[in-house]
Amino acid sequence: MRKYIRKNILELEPYSTARDEFQGTGISVWLDANESPYNNGANRYPDPHQKELKKRVARMTGISSDCIFIGGAGSDEAIDVAFRIFCEPGKDNVIAIAPSYGVYKVAATINNVEVREVLLNEDFSLPADRILDATDSNSKIIWICSPNNPTGNAFPKEEILEIAHRFKGIVIVDEAYADFSDKGSMLDKINSVENLIVLRTFSKAWGLAGLRAGMAFASAEIIGFFDRVKYPYNMSSLVQEELLHRMEQGTGNHITEIKSERHRMAKALEEAPCVLKVYPSDANFLLVKVKDADHLYNYLAENGVLVRDRSRMPLCDNSLRITIGTPEENAATISLIQQFK
Ligand code: PMP
Repeated sequence: MRKYIRKNILELEPYSTARDEFQGTGISVWLDANESPYNNGANRYPDPHQKELKKRVARMTGISSDCIFIGGAGSDEAIDVAFRIFCEPGKDNVIAIAPSYGVYKVAATINNVEVREVLLNEDFSLPADRILDATDSNSKIIWICSPNNPTGNAFPKEEILEIAHRFKGIVIVDEAYADFSDKGSMLDKINSVENLIVLRTFSKAWGLAGLRAGMAFASAEIIGFFDRVKYPYNMSSLVQEELLHRMEQGTGNHITEIKSERHRMAKALEEAPCVLKVYPSDANFLLVKVKDADHLYNYLAENGVLVRDRSRMPLCDNSLRITIGTPEENAATISLIQQFK
């Protein structure tokens, strides 16, 4: 595993926070961290290791705490930290499928890392051989978003495993939308596949995009490097407490409702005169190919409904990405699209 890690990261002496050094009990006066002594609910630094939260996530996922990283800027934080752990700026490269989530490329560019984009097959399936052909000895990460944004489809686990098996680098599977998929998760593979990292987020199925919380799951060795590279206090105490509380509450029936609305919306949109194709979706959105995407996009916006125009992305000619909303929001959107000439 260490061969995939940048030399400066291997040699890094990580920042040690005020409370890392003392592990005992019995302290009631905290004069070690230059905090304000006046209790206003946020005057103390948060737990930099998010121990309680990790315990709770471990209970939820069955993955042990030392295999969990939690980022306070969503899973976008894990994406950036991964570049900083594995990729030597100006030298290494990564492979990303196209079309896919835009932040891999932005984070790569910020880190001065080349991105080699490999077009999905026409039917949005995974081109395993072309992905592997695009690699060379400086390729450090293969990014696979599954279910993929914006195409909506999840890739078969066996195909991802085959890529991980054949690649001499890290495979990161971004499962931001996996809670909406019936095709399963790669989470149970992180202990047996040493070069696999799985990303998850609280922003989608948990409905907590405003809190900014995301997770990375991998071997304890890899997660150890995430913990060394992250900012020491990367998640506020208020967010940690709120997440514990929300996890106790669960997601209710929201995932089931979104999946059934997705089905209803897909069926209804297929009947609309301006719609050419509704792609199958394993996520909380639909990619819809229409006759004139720009025109429909503007018409929806004029009527108060904002969707995402993905027409400029490869293989997504004239395609809009429509998030599944509440039943009322979906009904209004369906009716507008059905009426559009
Ligand atoms: N991965 C994918 C595929 C996404 O679509 C998004 C957000 N749209 C993210 C990650 C980032 O999510 P977060 O809010 O956890 O940063």
